[in-house]
Amino acid sequence: MAFINGRPQLADVSIAGGLIRPDLRAGPQTEIVDLTGRLLIPAFHDAHAHPAWGGLELSQCDLSTVTGGYAAKISEYARAHPGRSWVTGGGWSMSAFPRGTPEARELDLYVPDRPVLLYNGDHHGAWVNSVALELAGIDRHTLDPADGRIERYPDGTPTGLLHEGAMDLVARLAPHAGLSDQIEALLRGQAHLHSLGVVSWQDAILGAYGGYDDPTPAYLALAQSGGLTARVCGALWWDRALGAEQIPELVSRRADLPGFATPHVKIMLDGVAENFTAAMSEPYLGGHGSGMPFVDYAELPDYVTQLAEAGFSAHFHAIGDAAVSAALDAVEITAQRLRAGSGPAGSAGPDRWRHQIAHLQVVKPSDVERFARLGVIANMQAFWACHEPQLDKLAIPFLGPQRAQWLYLFGDLARAGAPLACGSDWPVSSANPWDAIHVAVNRSYEDSPALLPDQALDLARVLTAYTLGSAKANNLNDSGLIAPGWRADLAVLDRNPFELPSRDLTHTKVIQTYAGGSLVHAAA
Ligand SMILES: [Zn+2]
Repeated sequence: MAFINGRPQLADVSIAGGLIRPDLRAGPQTEIVDLTGRLLIPAFHDAHAHPAWGGLELSQCDLSTVTGGYAAKISEYARAHPGRSWVTGGGWSMSAFPRGTPEARELDLYVPDRPVLLYNGDHHGAWVNSVALELAGIDRHTLDPADGRIERYPDGTPTGLLHEGAMDLVARLAPHAGLSDQIEALLRGQAHLHSLGVVSWQDAILGAYGGYDDPTPAYLALAQSGGLTARVCGALWWDRALGAEQIPELVSRRADLPGFATPHVKIMLDGVAENFTAAMSEPYLGGHGSGMPFVDYAELPDYVTQLAEAGFSAHFHAIGDAAVSAALDAVEITAQRLRAGSGPAGSAGPDRWRHQIAHLQVVKPSDVERFARLGVIANMQAFWACHEPQLDKLAIPFLGPQRAQWLYLFGDLARAGAPLACGSDWPVSSANPWDAIHVAVNRSYEDSPALLPDQALDLARVLTAYTLGSAKANNLNDSGLIAPGWRADLAVLDRNPFELPSRDLTHTKVIQTYAGGSLVHAAA
């Protein structure tokens, strides 16, 4: 069976010269792949991921797969790497700690002698030990930076948790991976994604961020050496300390190589709900303010217009409803201006830009129809759309009952005709598309009660979003469909998920992945 025209059907699919061809006849050189009991789908495209960092974290103190306490893993890692001057890594979960806030003094018990820097799973907070605080000179007299917050005890002493921009105070001191380590990390990331059926991704931050180095040089090196078998669409990082004056520099950094292009600019509009930095139009309950807009929303339309005139599309990070509205406003104003012919790009067709909003945790219902009208891609991290401890304990209680109905409105967006794409945000969450598809269809993971079940997507819809929709988000126009003339980006599944009960979707496995007709993954 093959997933063609939005449904599984019996068909022969022939490929040659890297493309899907109509009715080629098999010759002596032809390799025949038997799809009995399997399903051939267009390969996945991940519209929001950080594979360079994901690959790097696989080689550091990786807490993302630890389920019990973190003590054993951190101590064991420190013991196993006595030569590393820092203990770095990440992947811990806020919900493993009371109020989501781990403390330096706990880390001091495991690693008293060298600095420790551990990002949480969403990379919006870092847990550090006392040596790291001391090294960075952070004490009760240190002021919070403009774009972050130092978690403190009532007397002002730092607790050991740094939110958002405050992470940089320590991260900038940590050792950096050299180019060869970064290339190796990227290859590890690429292999991991290919093994999951992914043939292109959008790297959602190209630039220095926190303690991470800019992965761009590693991409350029790999693209030039032929080591990139995936196609990578990059989003250049918008420096939130600067305004439109940074655009010429972004233009000068733009890459346009086969396999690696950077047509997008990533603008992080707010933080996350769990630490009250997601930007809300009404305050959080409990006196936690209304969030932390990372850029001046009044200036945003000018930024987006000037970026569009320079040929860039915007890839927004927006978690709170105010951030989502600000992104839509900026695109709407930009469209009005460019339609009016105010810039050189004004004559281009509506498909020229691929503006997109990632995350979309809290969306005002009145904003839903604007995605379709403005052609803004809803870049969904569908794996997050379920009840899990972080959402249930640290977000929903502070959002209150009304906004708890506005979470991940994917069903409404689909019904309103929004362009849909999917991205994993790996290593923030699982890179496996079937984890995200499972949650998109069930709105639940591991038997949790369904989160707003009428916001579920049907399997064909989410599969189309993760293939054709994400290819568009990644600025690719030749991939995402099984049709003659399209690029032979294909994945073979070990079963036909359309015949499975929806609760079993997560068990679906990719056994072969083809990128442009070349086999880039085959299960052992
Ligand atoms: Zn991300």
